[in-house]
Amino acid sequence: MSNDLKCPNCTTINPATNSVCKQCGINLKSAIETAMVVAQEHFANAIAMLRSADEGKIDDALKLNAASEVALAIKKSSAPFPSAHALLATLWNELGNDDRAELHADIALKENPYEFRAQLIKIDLTLKGVKIINLRPGDFVYFDRENYGKDAVDQVFGKVVGSAFGTVSKSIGTIFAAGSAVASQNKFVNEVEKLISIYKINCAKETDRDEYLMMAETMLGLADMLFKEPSMRSIRNKVWMAVAETVPVKLYQAGNDKEIQNVRRRAEGRLALVAVPK
Ligand SMILES: [Zn+2]
Repeated sequence: MSNDLKCPNCTTINPATNSVCKQCGINLKSAIETAMVVAQEHFANAIAMLRSADEGKIDDALKLNAASEVALAIKKSSAPFPSAHALLATLWNELGNDDRAELHADIALKENPYEFRAQLIKIDLTLKGVKIINLRPGDFVYFDRENYGKDAVDQVFGKVVGSAFGTVSKSIGTIFAAGSAVASQNKFVNEVEKLISIYKINCAKETDRDEYLMMAETMLGLADMLFKEPSMRSIRNKVWMAVAETVPVKLYQAGNDKEIQNVRRRAEGRLALVAVPK
């Protein structure tokens, strides 16, 4: 992560210690503050646009509009803005532009190595055109459905895909549609391993409750997709174990939270079902 300051007026990169731009002489502090407000507004516009769309039915025109808002936010911002790059990566991925999706996922991860959504895009991109897992939606497994009254599809699609970011729906669609090769499988496993690390680190930090639930549900959904694929058992169990065993410490301090406990219990239930030795 770089501390250099990009001048919002002329885009010259200045050392963080400069108070005025070495190129155009503008007061960097006030210019940057103004730029950040403008950038945040564009970013918020994009999010609002996606939220206003029907769940799971975000059309391409809307995604393109949102993408241009996010691109504007990045352009206006004088800071790296990794979450904006992650959202842009997600949108380009949804729109089928792999190169742009990868470019922005990489920028997001360079600026913030713990960008969960950007890593999801990296996973998704490893699955393009490759038949790794021969699952169809009907093969979804339902675990403690009675206890929670929802099946895995509802949980994942309702909570995660229903939010602004459609990453998981795309990931699932891609896996279902996909072709197969050992090299790609290894790449996929490698990217999932990185996601597990990112998950654990984020859980150890001051994590927002909704963000925690999004991450945990996404991890469960990802592992569920791998349920019947023998070559994926090991990584599947690692994902479940990460959810079952990682306690979001800072969130627990706020008191007992049933939803947080439930998501971890569901992961434990899955592990018990496949009887993974501890
Ligand atoms: Zn300047």
